[in-house]
Amino acid sequence: MSAFSEYRDVIKEGELVLVWISRDNIKPIKVDSNETFNTRYGSFPHKLMIGKPYGSQIAIRTKGSNKFAFIHVLQPTPELWTLSLPHRTQIVYTPDSSYIMERLNCSPRTKAIEAGTGSGSFSHAFARTVGHLYSYEFHKPRYEEALAEFEEHGLIHHDKNVTITHRDVCANGFSIRSSDVTSHKFNEGEGSVTIGANAVFLDLPAPWDAIPHLDSVISKNEKVGLCCFSPCIEQVDRTIEALNKHGWDDLQMVEIQGRQYESRRQMVRTMDDAIERLRDVKRRKNEGLERRKRMCDNILNDQPQEEINDEKRPTTEKTKFNPFGKGSRIKEGDTAYKWKQVTKIEPEIKSHTSYLTFAFKVVNKTRDEDQVKSELDSL
Ligand code: SAM
Repeated sequence: MSAFSEYRDVIKEGELVLVWISRDNIKPIKVDSNETFNTRYGSFPHKLMIGKPYGSQIAIRTKGSNKFAFIHVLQPTPELWTLSLPHRTQIVYTPDSSYIMERLNCSPRTKAIEAGTGSGSFSHAFARTVGHLYSYEFHKPRYEEALAEFEEHGLIHHDKNVTITHRDVCANGFSIRSSDVTSHKFNEGEGSVTIGANAVFLDLPAPWDAIPHLDSVISKNEKVGLCCFSPCIEQVDRTIEALNKHGWDDLQMVEIQGRQYESRRQMVRTMDDAIERLRDVKRRKNEGLERRKRMCDNILNDQPQEEINDEKRPTTEKTKFNPFGKGSRIKEGDTAYKWKQVTKIEPEIKSHTSYLTFAFKVVNKTRDEDQVKSELDSL
């Protein structure tokens, strides 16, 4: 069963779930009623999760205190997997992968090629959207780990839309034959796989060595989109040279600069609140000045200093919530107060990940009326 593609209501024994501890701390676990999930805030027996709807908050009382620790248990999605997966390599993050899939026009009609597989971050996003993904990895342990992970996540046997192949695509291209180390199960008499890819994504140190091998595996009858993901501008230069040489058109280089927008509610502060706050500040300032003056007078007149004890220390009233200062904590959205929806933007733009070089190719430019008709009929 694929945790990534089917809708799930209730958390069950044996399922892969993602535990949200905080925004930068999401952990994948397999639900096992004999296990406990440990965090520095407390231990959560998996039993507490079973039978609860996905998205539930699980709370426990922390040891030796009356406070609660809590986690949320979520169904995996490619976006959350990207934030929680075990890193075997640098990975492609959602701001890049979502933009790339949109530019390559990915849909269930897409047959995509991806090299290399790496940590499988982009593979999960592709697998959810495209009709079929052919992924290639030349590092044997990484290939095996990705294969095991894709099998466990149901991408190979359940959804059956991912094929992973152990291959150096720069040296040996993309064709998949029955003698290859691949997840593809060959039928009797089937010697090779007909790929016909209409989308290509290359996240390789030397994409220019892979580009010449693409012609034999891309679709001949439709526009094929390609994206190379390279961190250095020198790589972009060499890639563009290879793309021009091998007949790719409409070249464009893009850089994604991601910035998180956080939507939240802010309490509406009125003019009366502001005036009240200014009066409060002024009153406390005057109290402090008077006290200081008394201290100086006492020193000059050789008088004993005022005893400072908490009763004499000027106090700040904490009885009422003060929207401009400290006070009792108000839960965001408390209906007793007025709120407006605001956006908080991260001050920093996420640093450079890679340059995205896009190119397109149409191999056969003649119009086959029969094919157009059958394509339109199949819509
Ligand atoms: N896009 C992947 C992700 O989102 O998780 C990360 C890819 S990682 C940066 C690059 C991968 O390409 C590495 O795992 C590396 O072993 C593989 N690789 C490099 N050269 C290759 C080649 N010639 N053929 C196949 N794989 C290659």
